[in-house]
Amino acid sequence: MKDTYQHKELRRKLVEALRKKGIEDQAVLDVMMKLPRHFFMEKAFEELAYEDKAFPIGSDQTISQPLTVAIQTSLLEVKNREKVLEIGTGSGYQAALLGLLGARVYTLERHRALYQQAKQLLERLKLGNIRCFHRDGFKGLPEFAPFDKIIVTAGAEEVPEVLSRQLKIGGKMVIPVGKGVQEMLVITRTGENTFERDEKGSFRFVPFLKGLE
Ligand code: SAH
Repeated sequence: MKDTYQHKELRRKLVEALRKKGIEDQAVLDVMMKLPRHFFMEKAFEELAYEDKAFPIGSDQTISQPLTVAIQTSLLEVKNREKVLEIGTGSGYQAALLGLLGARVYTLERHRALYQQAKQLLERLKLGNIRCFHRDGFKGLPEFAPFDKIIVTAGAEEVPEVLSRQLKIGGKMVIPVGKGVQEMLVITRTGENTFERDEKGSFRFVPFLKGLE
């Protein structure tokens, strides 16, 4: 895998475009500048890796659009050493960014082929503390809960309570919720049984599905 001067230049332009589209979190822009997105995409799309678009990654799934990734990552407000659960490993790109931000990342994927590919790639890139699991995200990861943060990268019809209950008190989850079109929600656990919810705009994700493949 090569990261050429041209790739870096295209990445710089993408990051500049994200800034113009309203992304202000410098730490997020920095890691997006650092991480070669083309490593996480099929060879056929390599030249398009720095367009602000989603692309197919196999198993009928997509790597999210960079603007969406930047918004979700900014909303998550990851701090160094925080325990972060990601649902929907997909290509591994989002997990890698979280790793570069210093999080201790636990990422779950329901498709075996995607899980294996992402795990192999993330091990090879050695980007930080990232653990991959072939699991159904509807169950979360009880043996490692509670988490400081949870990020869901597939569109859920409602907020799965199992997941909100795996947040620390004071922790938060960023999750797109809705049928067809999703509203990005930030759920903050304010107490044992209390949660706050903020709406952050409309998005379109691949569906959050039950069971393993
Ligand atoms: N974060 C990914 C985006 C992948 S798209 C990236 O950076 O590339 C969303 C992913 O969520 C898909 O790979 C899909 O298979 C996965 N997914 C959907 N429902 C899931 C579930 N219940 N548990 C785990 N992963 C799930």
